[in-house]
Amino acid sequence: METKNGKASKPVTEKRLRFYIETYGCQMNEYDSELVRSILLESGFGEAFDPDLADAILLNTCSVRETAHNRVFGRLQSLDRLRAKSEKVVVGVLGCMAQSLKMELLENSIYVDLIAGPDSYRSLPSLIKGTLEGSGKMSAIDLSEFETYDDIYPSRLEGVNAWIAVMRGCDNFCTFCIVPYARGRERSRSVESIVEETRKLADEGYTQVTLLGQNVNSYSHDGRSFADLMNAVSKVVGLKRIRFISPHPKDFPDDLIDCVASNTRVCKHIHLPLQAGSDRILEMMNRDYTAEDYIRLVGKLRDGIADIILTTDIILGFPTETRKEYEDTVKLVEEVRFDSAFIFKYSERKGTVAARRWKDDVPPEEKKYRITRLNEIQKGISLELNRRFIERVMEILVEGPSKRNPDEWSGRTDGNKMVIFPRSHQKSGDYIKVKITGATANTLKGDIV
Ligand code: SF4
Repeated sequence: METKNGKASKPVTEKRLRFYIETYGCQMNEYDSELVRSILLESGFGEAFDPDLADAILLNTCSVRETAHNRVFGRLQSLDRLRAKSEKVVVGVLGCMAQSLKMELLENSIYVDLIAGPDSYRSLPSLIKGTLEGSGKMSAIDLSEFETYDDIYPSRLEGVNAWIAVMRGCDNFCTFCIVPYARGRERSRSVESIVEETRKLADEGYTQVTLLGQNVNSYSHDGRSFADLMNAVSKVVGLKRIRFISPHPKDFPDDLIDCVASNTRVCKHIHLPLQAGSDRILEMMNRDYTAEDYIRLVGKLRDGIADIILTTDIILGFPTETRKEYEDTVKLVEEVRFDSAFIFKYSERKGTVAARRWKDDVPPEEKKYRITRLNEIQKGISLELNRRFIERVMEILVEGPSKRNPDEWSGRTDGNKMVIFPRSHQKSGDYIKVKITGATANTLKGDIV
């Protein structure tokens, strides 16, 4: 049997089809890939860990930043070599790029057979089989108001942390962000289903979970807030650490501060995206808070939660941002003194309000100057703050060999600081005590005590 493009089609009923999946972008995508893995395994597919052995190659993509977007296009071009294979191989694009670029991807000359948006993963088995059986290019890109994949237990591969998506979508419409268009409206899972998922994870041996949402503190289900959810999850026997990302500064309620402060299983680390320190730019971004609101919230967090570790995201060079407005951001960074910051240059994302309304008019060399300087300033702050841990004994969760030196291992403190230590007999998932002996801007060094 031949497909429409002349390739031999698979006898899909006789052979166990195998998929290979690659993930780009944020932790929500990592979680979604675990959902996709689970859906396909349940439908009888096998997993290939080498793309050359797969019948379907799936790229779970991200549109949030230009770099991730370009990497996916580069990867699709490299997959073009598969056209030369005698048997058809399905190339699928999943996630945000599928949703935001839609048919543009299928109509492009690059090798893409199917696209599936973030709310369409249940249809993947039939889409892949349909493509292999010769039905041509296929797409499933409807967004849902209800899909939370509540009943699917993600198939996780490795690691000491388990991601749990507690909500999907976003209603905030920050003007630079594609997420509300790519992932649809906000919807939360039930407390019961999240607690049940955590229980299964604890039974499997996980002691740390990270609750995920694009805007995690707007979690709400049947009148229960995000703090209610965290308190419920923290009662699961066996669980030692609960993390969460990312909250929005505009709705960080007092009960959540109390929960982080008083619940011993909730880690004392908050990633609180600032984005900009100028009120005019914050308004253009539709962030719904001012620099003063942000500083006030940081004050409440520091007053309420002892030793809280604060990290952030910042975008520099937003359309029309002046040097003076950039200096407002620098001033705020120096005042707040974040433990670390992810600092990005603004890049226009097609389909966003910012792309429609404003020209990306801050010159590239000016953006480069701004990011280089702010990174240097933040590096100095991070180093100073990290040095305060020297001589302290801290508990870390062991993750595995360090990336730079396999004789050293790494683990994380409650506040999410990475600690490198010389390995003796520890294994991933152990909790050990280390005495901090040194610090760089990014990591701590320690000796086991
Ligand atoms: S809160 Fe803003 S930046 Fe975050 S996902 Fe929603 S729209 Fe995007």
